[in-house]
Amino acid sequence: MSCVFCRIVAGELPSTLVLESERVLAFRDIRPAAPVHVLVVPKAHVDSLFELEDRELAGELLWAAAEVARREQLTGGFRLIANTRHDGGQEVGHLHLHVVGGRRLGPMLAR
Ligand code: 5GP
Ligand code: ZN
Repeated sequence: MSCVFCRIVAGELPSTLVLESERVLAFRDIRPAAPVHVLVVPKAHVDSLFELEDRELAGELLWAAAEVARREQLTGGFRLIANTRHDGGQEVGHLHLHVVGGRRLGPMLAR
């Protein structure tokens, strides 16, 4: 298995878990861009948001992002980012939502 996030889901690579639900896992980004930087991923491999067809999974991913923000007490707000495919700057080819917060964010955040 070569996909890094599939390996994290399988427990082959270590990660700092924040949340686990039936179909979704959330863990801390290895290179945080802010005090809170969590990645929300489907357990089953999906290449990117472009390939996401499953509406229930889409809902669970969005719910998980909100639940992460609550657990991390991002009461001041946060940003949800889904870098998608080449033009979107996606580096890991397994769908993931970035939950970023814990400080006032600038108008653009590259990652
Ligand atoms: P992308 O640019 O694809 O939207 O973001 C990929 C993110 O995954 C980056 O923020 C990067 O720091 C993070 N990342 C890459 N490899 C690993 C890893 O092995 N573990 C964790 N926790 N994060 C990773
Ligand atoms: Zn994968």
